[in-house]
Amino acid sequence: MAIASLLIANRGEIAVRIIRAARLLGIRTVQAHSAADADSLAVRMADEAVLIGPPPAAKSYLDIEAVMKAARETGVDAVHPGYGFLAENADFADAVVSAGMIFVGPDASAIRLLGDKVAARKVAREAGVPTVPGSEGRIAGIEEARTLVEEIGFPVMIKAAAGGGGRGIRIVRDFDEFEKQFPQAASEAQAAFGDGGLYIEKVIENARHIEVQILGDGENVIHCFERECSLQRRRQKVWEEAPAFGLSPSVREALTASAVALARSVGYRGAGTVEYLYDADSGAFYFIEVNTRIQVEHPVTEMITGIDLVAEMIRIAGGEKLSIPQDAVRISGHAIECRINAEDPAQNFMPSPGQVTALVEPEGEGVRFDTMLYDGYWVPPFYDSLLGKMIVHGADRKDAIARMEVALKALTIDGIRTTVPLHLAIAANPDVAAGAIHTKYLEGWLADAPLSTSLSPAASQTENA
Ligand code: ADP
Ligand code: ADP
Ligand code: MG
Repeated sequence: MAIASLLIANRGEIAVRIIRAARLLGIRTVQAHSAADADSLAVRMADEAVLIGPPPAAKSYLDIEAVMKAARETGVDAVHPGYGFLAENADFADAVVSAGMIFVGPDASAIRLLGDKVAARKVAREAGVPTVPGSEGRIAGIEEARTLVEEIGFPVMIKAAAGGGGRGIRIVRDFDEFEKQFPQAASEAQAAFGDGGLYIEKVIENARHIEVQILGDGENVIHCFERECSLQRRRQKVWEEAPAFGLSPSVREALTASAVALARSVGYRGAGTVEYLYDADSGAFYFIEVNTRIQVEHPVTEMITGIDLVAEMIRIAGGEKLSIPQDAVRISGHAIECRINAEDPAQNFMPSPGQVTALVEPEGEGVRFDTMLYDGYWVPPFYDSLLGKMIVHGADRKDAIARMEVALKALTIDGIRTTVPLHLAIAANPDVAAGAIHTKYLEGWLADAPLSTSLSPAASQTENA
């Protein structure tokens, strides 16, 4: 059944992004929103808006009953969950389908299977995809862990089977630490994710984070190449690129083929991402997890392939088959995305909600700014601090970095602090230019050269003088 109307069960820039894609497909849009988002850009843009609850996400965007009530009352035929919130909640996908509507994402069974990171590791192994050395299943207790850790060696990570968003991961370096951390990790995972299950992975040192974008229609699966997401802070991506730099054709082929094999083995339907750690010295890659949803950094893939991933996932959900054969997916140039957050990088990334008193967005060839901002908008304090994503497309990586610098300098967001100065510093960093980065690089660099000194008004004046 083709989708004629769509409820957007999310907020912020991704809600705006989904509305744009839906409009392109001639679909009526209904924006579900909390009381804090009544004035949001998505609410203003959508054909219709419906209040689902008070500001706290637990009582609005995370409240399955409230979202389902809005879907029923507005008579939509489909629901798009975006990312975060209920996007990887299989019970929500079930509720949407039980109400006779379409969930824009994979089947609840695929979400349930792949959302359990331990079960996903098993799926990967069975599909012949290399995984990070670690436990086969959930770890029941310290004794079981001891044997395993003796085998793989410290440091190891204790990870929550249901973790996500960079949370539910601890590094331990010896048994004493392990004995202390394990029970804490279990109770924390139980509280945060409603599932105290834990597993163990060896820490892959100096690795890069590379992930493969996939699209499936239940029969066929294609990949849209890979993204590089190694610049992270607190295991959250900060700056992303496509394609990953310096991959040999054989590594790229093996990596993308493994993601397709994994997705095929479960008859995957929709957009998804298979995440890996990559050891640039050996060329080895190791599966870490699957995200069964659209990702924050999907635009870099769109820029290099010309594929509208959000439109494609909506079409697939409506029952269409993949419109693009694998050999028509090609890489053109290089794209970079900077996540612009309402945080003050000079004050340890302290959140900075408030009113945007002036906004100037950059324009020009190869520049795209996906945002929820408008002049005068009040950034609410209740949610994730992402304001928008600056995305550029260049002929090659060097050109893309140069374009990013120009675009960031042309962006004005007055009234609140943002992470733009951090991104300008990254764009000027020689290690980044050389590709000498890994997932711990950014944190190490920030610790050595705190932006609080280099970014203070006095310092930037001296620099400009
Ligand atoms: P991506 O994998 O798309 O790069 P992030 O890890 O930055 O995305 O997560 C995007 C948003 O979704 C963030 O707000 C994050 O906190 C949230 N999120 C991601 N995974 C989960 C999860 N399993 N449960 C709850 N929230 C999540
Ligand atoms: P989440 O579900 O929170 O996204 P992931 O398992 O995808 O968690 O890991 C998030 C990040 O944590 C990775 O991008 C990487 O930086 C780091 N990480 C995860 N597993 C390992 C590992 N085994 N060794 C080293 N770093 C890891
Ligand atoms: Mg991840």
